[in-house]
Amino acid sequence: MAKNEWQQGWFLAAQRCESPFFNTRPIGEVSLLVIHNISLPAGCFGTPYIEDLFLGKLDCAADPSFADLKGLEVSAHFLIRRDGAVLQFVSCDQRAWHAGLSSFEGRSGCNDFSIGIELEGTDEVDFEPVQYERLTELTSKLMRHYPGISRDRIVGHSDIAPGRKTDPGPHFDWRSYLASLAEL
Ligand SMILES: [Zn+2]
Repeated sequence: MAKNEWQQGWFLAAQRCESPFFNTRPIGEVSLLVIHNISLPAGCFGTPYIEDLFLGKLDCAADPSFADLKGLEVSAHFLIRRDGAVLQFVSCDQRAWHAGLSSFEGRSGCNDFSIGIELEGTDEVDFEPVQYERLTELTSKLMRHYPGISRDRIVGHSDIAPGRKTDPGPHFDWRSYLASLAEL
């Protein structure tokens, strides 16, 4: 294993943007990976607003749709942008606030034991090939560093919050993503 890929839950190859929105994992367990999509405003890519949201700096007057986001305290561990840039907001050793009301195999509160990866995207369009490349690389690094994350413990937000969440949506290619992990 390459040395110094990780430091206290921070993946050093990612751009580090520390979010104030995290707290301690109750039992320290990391055993689930949750894939999301996000865009702000919805359907617009390449804006600074996702980072702003996760950093608690979003100007809620910048777009009418942001009124709903006022006071919202959310974060994810990672964001993979359309151009493949990988940003990390919260140490993977800490609990980020991405899953909300959720349940996996009968266990609620998935933030307690999961890592959240946001892909810049929507339910309506395909993700970029470079996003899959970065996601596959990141997933394999995570699985090595956090062995509790196995292939059958990688889910979409919609899987753990059905009826409430739809991401990563129908354009996320689970089959090729999971196949690419198997090839590593
Ligand atoms: Zn989500």
